[in-house]
Amino acid sequence: RVRVRFAPSPTGPLHIGGVRTALFNYFFARQHGGDFILRIEDTDSQRFVPGAEEYINEALNWCGITIDEGVREGGPHAPYRQSERKHIYKQYADRLVESGHAYYAFDTPEVLDKMRTEAEAQGGAFTYNYAIRNGMENSLALPADEVKRRIERGDQWVIRFKMPENEEVVMHDLIRGEVRVNTSTLDDKVLFKSSDMLPTYHLANVTDDYLMEISHVIRGEEWLPSLPLHVLLYRALGWENVMPKFAHLPLLLKPSGNGKLSKRDGDKMGFPVFPLLWKSADGEISRGYREDGYFPEAFVNLLALLGWNPGTDQELFSMDELIKLFSIERVNKSGARFDPEKAKWFNHQYLIRKSDAEVAELFQPVLEQYNINVPIDKLTRIVGLVKERVNFVHELWGQTNYFFERPLEYDQQAVAKHWKPETPDMITDVSETLKALGSWNSHEIETALKDLINAKGYGMGKVMNAVRLCLVGESKGPGIADICEILGKDETLTRLNQAIL
Ligand code: GLU
Repeated sequence: RVRVRFAPSPTGPLHIGGVRTALFNYFFARQHGGDFILRIEDTDSQRFVPGAEEYINEALNWCGITIDEGVREGGPHAPYRQSERKHIYKQYADRLVESGHAYYAFDTPEVLDKMRTEAEAQGGAFTYNYAIRNGMENSLALPADEVKRRIERGDQWVIRFKMPENEEVVMHDLIRGEVRVNTSTLDDKVLFKSSDMLPTYHLANVTDDYLMEISHVIRGEEWLPSLPLHVLLYRALGWENVMPKFAHLPLLLKPSGNGKLSKRDGDKMGFPVFPLLWKSADGEISRGYREDGYFPEAFVNLLALLGWNPGTDQELFSMDELIKLFSIERVNKSGARFDPEKAKWFNHQYLIRKSDAEVAELFQPVLEQYNINVPIDKLTRIVGLVKERVNFVHELWGQTNYFFERPLEYDQQAVAKHWKPETPDMITDVSETLKALGSWNSHEIETALKDLINAKGYGMGKVMNAVRLCLVGESKGPGIADICEILGKDETLTRLNQAIL
């Protein structure tokens, strides 16, 4: 049975890269009729951030991801929060020590820091591994009774994995194929700490994947360096026959393609890197896609194409289509460049595919913020005229404000261009022609204006630009006749006359 997990650490708001990981896991689970599990990896108490877990739940929910087993949903392997699974991990650390795959180490942070500094001074990196472990304070180097004594008197200790020397680990990644690493390049990672009696990420992650019967681990490329250790842990614990298959997703890159996408890129270029707005404890606010006006469907669609493609030209996909079409084989190895303009394009595509009535419904609350109440039928008509021009519902305000507010001033550039000495007379003619109309609809208005222009020999552009200036206050908006119809006869005439004065 396919069982996948999304296993974020609640160290802050979820980055869009994290959301993409969740999505790819979700597509894969649903495609195979499997289970999608949310596991909260909160064993690093120092990096725990209050509110982050709620944020993760809300973000997944906004994307339309449904969770089969998780902190809120429960499930056969509950609890799904690692801090509540504390009692589970120590026995596995013990087992590794007993079988000789791990050992107790008592080295103080001061000693380790000193060695790190010395190594760096010599231009290298300090690696706690086969080369030095025998000279350190640990259960490999100290007599057994001394080890026991230290533990009993309450010395701080950690349990480290005893990384073998010069062994070739051969791994398989569903995206990258075969990956080989020589263990001599790796270090003896800490698996468990006495300071809080908690496992580190590696031990907790592998243990829980095993206990929760995870079949596929789909996660970001930044975890690929941990894979050899994880594979060796599965072996050492005797779980290799049920080891999950691994797929490491490509990084999300800056718009320039140059390096990993960071919050700073978003701040600099004006786009969010988080799904939802986030307020940090010190009051700093980070923008979110939801609050920026993205539709969740557009957000999911744009993330799906960061690192995956269907092999065709199709770019717009519903969640159901993504579940059907997604395949790990079509995930790229190389990083996926994030393009903020393309992100907006996706939202535009979803917006223009919604009915005018639906968009009007979404736009109404925006207008209410300006204390403007417009009947939905009228708003639907207005939205239909301008929705092609915007990427977001809130941008409709800038394209429609003149329907609700008479212009108080006129764009000076447009005035210089379109308001000539002869213009007031033309506008007076227009005003009189429209005043004489028996019925008020865009077709009749259009015909009447054309007839007037022909009869008087006016320039079409000259008249229309000037009328637009009177009605809108600047050079924007849909066709003049449509604007007139929606404004209504009285308002149209008022605006024309106001402009002449
Ligand atoms: N807790 C890790 C994270 O924050 C999980 C990595 C994994 O999926 O193994 O991303």
